[in-house]
Amino acid sequence: LTLLLIGSGGREHALAWKLAQSPLCRRLMIAPGNPGTAAHGTNLSLDVTDHAAVIAACRREGVDFVVVGPEAPLVAGLVDALAEAGIRAFGPRAAAAQLEGSKAFTKELCREFAIPTAAFARFREVAPALAYLRAGRVPVVVKADGLAAGKGVVVAETLDQAEAAVESMLGGGLGAAGAEVVIEECLVGEEASLFALCDGTRAVLLGTAQDHKRVHDGDKGPNTGGMGAYSPAPVLTPALEAEVMARIIRPTLDGMRTRGTPFSGILYAGLMLTAEGPMLIEYNTRFGDPECEVLMPRLASDLVPLLTAAAEGDLSGVTPDWRDEVALTVIMAAPGYPGTVAKGSEIRGLSEAEAAGALVFQAGTKRDGDRLVADGGRVLAVTALGRDVREAQAKAYAALDRIDWPEGFCRRDIGWRAVARET
Ligand code: ATP
Repeated sequence: LTLLLIGSGGREHALAWKLAQSPLCRRLMIAPGNPGTAAHGTNLSLDVTDHAAVIAACRREGVDFVVVGPEAPLVAGLVDALAEAGIRAFGPRAAAAQLEGSKAFTKELCREFAIPTAAFARFREVAPALAYLRAGRVPVVVKADGLAAGKGVVVAETLDQAEAAVESMLGGGLGAAGAEVVIEECLVGEEASLFALCDGTRAVLLGTAQDHKRVHDGDKGPNTGGMGAYSPAPVLTPALEAEVMARIIRPTLDGMRTRGTPFSGILYAGLMLTAEGPMLIEYNTRFGDPECEVLMPRLASDLVPLLTAAAEGDLSGVTPDWRDEVALTVIMAAPGYPGTVAKGSEIRGLSEAEAAGALVFQAGTKRDGDRLVADGGRVLAVTALGRDVREAQAKAYAALDRIDWPEGFCRRDIGWRAVARET
């Protein structure tokens, strides 16, 4: 097959690394890709928001199958446009990507199909939202309905904070993403993620993970896209996994099918493990970044037939094999992240890090002549496998310490929850 992978982050480097190993993959192209993906295929410079341009490139290059990495093209309907052009693609159609594109949509689905989630109310006007807050309790969670790249959620400890969040979002602070807000009960528990591969009808468990959202050690500082992750998440025991599949994932697929918008692709459930059982915090409709960087190294099976079977609507009989190892990834970020970052500093020593037994996935990097330089917030994902989290952690940091990039920084405590559980 000739494959086209859409995206340019660490997630796409991990996908490219895995797809290129498939005996079914004759040719791999990545649009737009990054210097890391270029080691596994050919980067195409393509504006992926221009669906006609993507279709033209597929025809020109003889692409048989497109894999969409990030959420924005899914929500924008790239898979629909490709399907209309007769080009097969992995990922949900726009109507099903609403599970990520609209928090209100997902909350209503949960209500209709009795999927466990926090109690909620939706508002488009400031006054009734404030009245609702004043009649309720704190802490409380205020969310912009649409995609806001992680900036649309405020866990408010005080009424003042909650009111300010409502006023800012409905006042246009996040643009169209904040035209509606969802106000939610604040859940208490440990967070974990579960990934399911879906074909519109069936769901196959792809594994679990925990990430680290805050920028500094000890879960301090502002939220980021994720500073590291490990898989599996030991807190999600096999019994809890089965419960999430039965009470959250399967009813979601049934509900979406009943509504005439079947979900095919990756369903990534953000969960809160509460005293009353697992509850859905949010859905994403694609692999997580950095979670993909720990799922792909653990996957022993060929990825290509998994993705094509899901896209063709028939995952029956598909059971992926996994390595009997834990994976852990540590993100190296550019100075200033998650605020304004300084770009252009040189990165060396990636082959030394890989020689130490790690996989280094690239995210915000760029070639500048024969130098590799930082070109984004999250720059590298240094990933290692081990018998347990502690071993994977030790290997990942040993490799990371061989990277010669004085300007970059990372957390030194990725995996602390699981390590504490192991000891
Ligand atoms: P992401 O960057 O993970 O896609 P997002 O902006 O789509 O985030 P959510 O995942 O819905 O937003 O929320 C972000 C974080 O806020 C969660 O990881 C969780 O820590 C917290 N959160 C969200 N909803 C609740 C809730 N009801 N109770 C407690 N915490 C919550």
